[in-house]
Amino acid sequence: MGVELALKPYRRRFAQPLQTAHGPWMWREGLLIRLEDSLGRVGYGEVAPIPWFGSESVAEALAFCQAQGSEWRSHPVPAELPATQFGLESAMAELAAENFDIWQEPSSTAICGLLPAGERALAIAPQRFAQGHRTLKWKIGVHPITDEIHWLNQLVQALPLDARLRLDANGGLSSAQAKQWLVACDRVNTNPQLATIEYLEQPLPPDQLTEMTALGNGYQTAIALDESVATVAQLENCWDQGWRGVFVVKPAIAGSPQELEAFCQKNLPRLVFSSAFETVIGRRAALAIAARCSPAPAPALGFGTQGWFADNWDTLTPAELWERL
Ligand SMILES: [Mg+2]
Repeated sequence: MGVELALKPYRRRFAQPLQTAHGPWMWREGLLIRLEDSLGRVGYGEVAPIPWFGSESVAEALAFCQAQGSEWRSHPVPAELPATQFGLESAMAELAAENFDIWQEPSSTAICGLLPAGERALAIAPQRFAQGHRTLKWKIGVHPITDEIHWLNQLVQALPLDARLRLDANGGLSSAQAKQWLVACDRVNTNPQLATIEYLEQPLPPDQLTEMTALGNGYQTAIALDESVATVAQLENCWDQGWRGVFVVKPAIAGSPQELEAFCQKNLPRLVFSSAFETVIGRRAALAIAARCSPAPAPALGFGTQGWFADNWDTLTPAELWERL
């Protein structure tokens, strides 16, 4: 007997449009998958692509899944559909193992809290600490660099000593600006009286890996790749080109979870796991991968994305969400 395949596309509105380098993101669209085998075992999966990270569109994912008919025969999913690989493979894994029954949301200590860009971060940081976060992420490259570095210096003085800060430039800096930031970061990181800057994330565009490797060798503060490594294939490519800094990985768009785990076991890369604004279904599967593949001690999870939508889906279980749609 085969495995029954059912699909439900969804669309959710962000409570506040998310500001991205490609303009405001208003609606998160995706596809939920439900598999059920002849024993009545159920597995849920989610396809949650991010088009500007090079993922397939929801329409492409839907077309592939619909072409399977009502039965899933565990065909290989083409590499051009990484978010679909994640969705179908994680649904199969849940069906086979039923390992999400004892699932628990990580504590806020284990999750990186998000700060707004600009000076507002100074007002919001104490709130994030009160919520239990110990690692915070701040978008940079939004305001003039001298203002932002001034606020950074205020921020690290205001934060507790054990705080960790991630600076995310989304590939938006010039080489000269990246150096200016790294000088400022090193000045903070060599001062034992200040909080730590964990890394500078994606300072330059994805096609400038050689330059980022040189920056990584030239300064004490670590550099993380994010936009450069959307998929497992890109992770492997950067690894083969000698990148040994941090990788930010969004399992929901990275492709096959099995291939991601194999890459981790083989190379022991410095991975930081991150959300792709998926629903509870993709979130559970992505966090399960993070739990298996994070280096020890595990860096904070980039999953501070609860409560960003104008709905109450974050309070539902996978089965409840499936029924709701
Ligand atoms: Mg990033």
